[in-house]
Amino acid sequence: MTEASDHVICTNCRREFDAAFKKDFLGFKKYHCPHCNEDIRYPLTTGYLVTYWVLVALLLLWTVAALSSGGVVIPGVIGILIIFAAIKDLVLRSEVRKLVPYAESPATLQVKHGCGAVLNVPEKYAGKSVKCPKCGQSFQVEAPAKEKE
Ligand SMILES: [Zn+2]
Ligand SMILES: [Zn+2]
Repeated sequence: MTEASDHVICTNCRREFDAAFKKDFLGFKKYHCPHCNEDIRYPLTTGYLVTYWVLVALLLLWTVAALSSGGVVIPGVIGILIIFAAIKDLVLRSEVRKLVPYAESPATLQVKHGCGAVLNVPEKYAGKSVKCPKCGQSFQVEAPAKEKE
C-alpha cells in the first residue's frame, strides 16, 4: 500500500491541505483536516465505487428475478448498506465538486497597535505575542473573529 498524499479541500472549512486518506466505514476516504481539526469524508475509492455499483446491479437483477418468480424481496442489511453507500457516494461527489477553496482568506492579519503602527502579521500568529517593529513593545495578536455556524 502506498502512502501517497492527495491534495484535498476540506469539506468543513474549505481550506486546502495534503494528506493521505484513511479508509472509513464502507470504504469512504477519510482525511484529517489540520486547519479545523475535523475528520472529513470524501467519495469512495475507485475500487469500492466499482464494487458497489456492480453489487447494486446484481441486487437489482436479483430483485427482478425474485419478483418475477413470485418471491418476496427482503433487501437485508448488506443490500441496504450497499444502496446507502452508493447514494452517499453520489451526494459526496457532488459536494466535493462544488467545493471552492477558501481563497478569500488573507494569509496575513492586519493588526493595529496602540502606538499607531499597522502591522501585517501572518495568520499563524493569531493569539500569540509579537513584537511591534515601531515601538518595540510586545503585544498579543487578536485572533480574527470566527463566523458562527
Ligand atoms: Zn477543515
Ligand atoms: Zn507599537
